[in-house]
Order: sequence, then structure tokens, then C-alpha cells
Amino acid sequence: MEARKRLPTSRPPRPDHSKTAISKASSAAATVKASDALPLPIRLTNLVFFPMFFVAAYYLMIRWREKVRIGAPLHVLNFLDLTAIVSLVSSILYLLNFFGIELIQPILNPRSSDDDFIPADEEPNCAALCPQSPPDTRKSAPISPNSVLPADDEEIVRGVLRGSIPSYSLESRLGDCRRAAGVRREALKRTTGKSLDGLPLDGFDYEAILGQCCEMPVGYVTLPVGIAGPMLLDGKLYHVPMATTEGCLVASTNRGLKAIRDSGGAESVILRDGMTRAPAVRFASAKRAAELRFYLEDPANFDTISVVFKKSSRFARLQGIQCAMAGKNLYMRFRCATGDAMGMNMVSKGVQNVLDFLQGEFPDMEVISISGNFCSDKKPAAVNWIEGRGKSVVCEAVIKEEVVLKVLKTTVAALVELNMLKNLAGSAVAGSIGGFNAHAANIVSAIFIATGQDPAQNIESSHCITMMEAINGGKDVHVSVTMPSIEVGTVGGGTQLASQGALLDLLGVRGANADAPGENARLLATIVAGAVLAGELSLMSALASGHLVKSHMKYNRSSKDVSKIAS
Ligand code: ADP
Repeated sequence: MEARKRLPTSRPPRPDHSKTAISKASSAAATVKASDALPLPIRLTNLVFFPMFFVAAYYLMIRWREKVRIGAPLHVLNFLDLTAIVSLVSSILYLLNFFGIELIQPILNPRSSDDDFIPADEEPNCAALCPQSPPDTRKSAPISPNSVLPADDEEIVRGVLRGSIPSYSLESRLGDCRRAAGVRREALKRTTGKSLDGLPLDGFDYEAILGQCCEMPVGYVTLPVGIAGPMLLDGKLYHVPMATTEGCLVASTNRGLKAIRDSGGAESVILRDGMTRAPAVRFASAKRAAELRFYLEDPANFDTISVVFKKSSRFARLQGIQCAMAGKNLYMRFRCATGDAMGMNMVSKGVQNVLDFLQGEFPDMEVISISGNFCSDKKPAAVNWIEGRGKSVVCEAVIKEEVVLKVLKTTVAALVELNMLKNLAGSAVAGSIGGFNAHAANIVSAIFIATGQDPAQNIESSHCITMMEAINGGKDVHVSVTMPSIEVGTVGGGTQLASQGALLDLLGVRGANADAPGENARLLATIVAGAVLAGELSLMSALASGHLVKSHMKYNRSSKDVSKIAS
């Protein structure tokens, strides 16, 4: 409620969408259930076609026997005979279709509901885009066989195998990161007897990861990157990169983004921006631990601690300290602004400064660990869900009824009902922490991987409550995602690598924001929330209309012979 009150009320003007037919559909849909979003409720069609089949078959058999008995020609038909034949044929077609043989759809409607994840006007022309035969991904990767090595490298590989040259020292010993990776890979191949043929070695900048992203590399994993969108968020368009191997995910997000675009766009608001780190310290008594707690909570001491905290960074600005105790152990959750960095290193350095300072004031304080898990990093925890960590974002949109019907292929009533029963009640039944959504983690993870974020932080970054409410007399739906812990940065870590940097560039958020430090990272967080909003809309619609399994069968199940690829 608090968040909603603060949401901006101004939004772009929207075209008038009050169409009589649609408002009729809306009132009819007031009592609709999720399963009724099919073209016709299945219980109704069964009720018609099953009896039709038996009655028509019975009638025709009687007539046939009669004609044979009196010697009448079989091809002379009266009106009732014709009706019975038409009924029999149509009910057979229905029954075949009902039992899984889709004969009617491809003939009557070449765009079957399997295509529903791709909006009609955005379906890619595969014939134009794809080569005649599907490429063999095993061959397309640049593979360096390395079976014949230069004499020098051969000697080093033998050294690694003997144990006289530590594998981790290859980069510093050879002074050439690519060569080090090749030697390490060769040693690994000989130790394990595995070819590693599918893992590319060349085509990657190993210098770029040295000392910051990955140790002891032997190659790199390739991942496809899809683009969903454009996303219309806060009046601007963004093409959203998603690195994933889950079929349907990009297509589904794309559909949600189209629904949002066609309805005038989404809007976002950042409620809080602060990374946290919580060291654990111990005293001889709970009384002494409480004394430190009172010291930290005294506003008179805050300025001193802030100055100490920001000694190690221009960007780290202390916002607050939240304490929790367990007996004589004290957990201090420091929250600070970190500019455009995700901020874990920055906040850890600041916390270390404060611990050093506090040791002077409280010499009997024993530091257990700079991280005492009250932070809480990469673990499900109520503290992040309630207090937030990183960027706390709300993103909202009003989806018009005609868009719900046409693009999402469901109804407002079915969406709202499903959201209540699944995302709210279902997650409550499951005892969820921050999991009041359909699949926020899918979208968060795909964008995190594409843009060089820490994928392990998808745990708290995916905390999300999805709300759906029928508005404008039940015609339109207000949908929102509230995500209190989106942890993203546009400098540091994986964001500086070439491919991840290129995708940050695509979004216009690469690197540090020169004018207002932190603006790039905050914008990225709102884009993540906007994409989650789209993902929620699309998946919830697919579930409400019963299209989910069909779409997955189409996009997730390749017709290629997987056994051949494996062999
Ligand atoms: P993290 O704290 O997310 O682990 P790093 O410490 O790896 O990030 O990277 C942040 C580094 O980038 C710091 O050294 C910081 O001084 C520098 N930096 C440059 N510009 C900015 C900015 N606008 N916001 C935050 N950090 C910045």
C-alpha cells in the first residue's frame, strides 16, 4: 500500500478504447473462471458432440438395414439421412481432435494457438532468417584441437601433469592468458581422457577476466542471447537482452512487452537504493553486545561512523545500520549507496573500516566474520524481502481489455482470479518468502547473465509480489510487480567484459554515469522490473487460457534427433 501511494499518477494519454462489443464481453466475463478462457468451455462441446456421434451412427445403421431389407438404392438420401451423415463426420472430426489428433486446426486456422507467444504482427520470418538446413552447433563453435602442441607448451603440459607446475600459476608463468588456458585445457584432457571438443577455446579475451572474473579458465560456455521488446518504460523504448536456453522465455516476455506497449507503456519507481553487509561480532556478555548496539543506534554517532565508512570509496555513502542480536552475538546490517556498482566490494571495504574503528572503542569486541548472513547475500531471507537490498523497485501498467483479449488471449477476470489463487494464496500455502509471483526468476536470471550481473544474486533479486486488479469497471487490469531487492551494477565484475558490456550498451547503461553516479544501475534495475512485469503478464495469461503446455511443446521440444547429437 505504502509503495502504491508513492507511485506517480501521471501517465501518457491513451486512445479511447471503449468499444461496445468489448464491454459486453467484459460483463460476461465477470463470472468467468480461468479454465473458461478456451474458445468454448470443453464440457459444453463434449455435451454436444458425444451424443451427436452415437445418435447419428445409430440412425444411419437403422436406415441402412431398412434400405437393404426393402431393396432401396443406398445412394438416394433424404434430408434426415444427409443431416445424420454431416453430424457423424463432424463428431468424428471433433472426437479425433479431442483425443489429440489436431486435424481441424491446421486446415481451418493455420495460426494455431501454439503460436500464441508470438504476437501475430511480430512473428519472425524464419525462412528468411534461417539457413536452409539447421546449423550443427557442434561444428559452428571455434574449436582448437591442441592435440599437437609447440615443444615449449608440451613441456609445460607435462610439468602440470607431473605436479611440478601448479595449474593456477600458468598465467603468471607464461604471461599469456590464452596460451595458459590452452595448456591447462590440454592437461585436463590428458588427465580425464575427455575431448572437451564442444567447449570453445579461441574467440575469448582471457586477459579481461584475469584476477577479477574467473580463475583457471579452459574455455568458455556459449549461450544464445535473445532480444525481447521493445519495452516501453517511463516513456522510453528499450530492447531487452536475455541469455537463456529455456525455449519460450524470450517469446513469452516479448508477448508481455507487446501487451504493455499496446496499452501505453509501463511506469516504474525506485523506493530505495542501498547495498548491505552485516558483520557478526561477539562479546563476553549480551550486556556488552547491547552497549555496542546502542552506540550504533545513537544518531549522535552516525556522522563519525559515516566518515569512517566512506574512507575507502568516493561512491560509498552510509545510509543506516540495522542491528539484530542472538545472545551475546551482534549482527550489524550496514546499508550504503554504491553509485553504479552493484556494491558488494565497496560496502565490504567500508564495513571493514568501521570494524577497525570500533575495535578501538570496544576492545573486547571479537569479530567473527565480516559477513554474518544478516546481509543477506545469495540466500533466501526475510530481511531482504522486508527491508530491501540493492534497488527496491515497483513497476506498474494498465493493460486494456482489448489487449488482454487480442494479445494475451485471455480475460481480465481470468487473470485477476488466477493471480489471487496462484501468486497470492498458492504462495502463502507454500510458505514462500518473496515468491508471490509466477516466474520472476526466469527473467531476472536471463537479463543478469546477458548483462554481466552476478547470477547467484538472482535469489533475492527475484523476490517479487505480482498484483493484478480489475479497474475501470472490470474492463482493464492494473498489474504491478514490487521487487525489493534487485541487485545490479553497470561497473565492476562481469559488466566490463566485451559481450556483457555490448548488451549494457544496447540498453544505454554501460559503465559509470558521469552526471549522476548510480543512475545507470538504477535504470537497469527498472528495466529488469519492467521485463519481469511482461513475463508475469504473459505466463499468467498462458496459464489462464491453458496454452502453456502447447507452447512449450512447440518451442522447447526440438524435432532434431537428440540421440544422434548425444552420440
Ligand atoms: P562491486 O562493489 O560491485 O563489487 P567493484 O568494486 O568491482 O564493484 O567496482 C566498483 C569500482 O568502480 C570501484 O573501484 C569504484 O571506485 C569504481 N567506479 C567508477 N565509477 C563508479 C560509479 N559511477 N559508481 C560506482 N563505482 C564506480
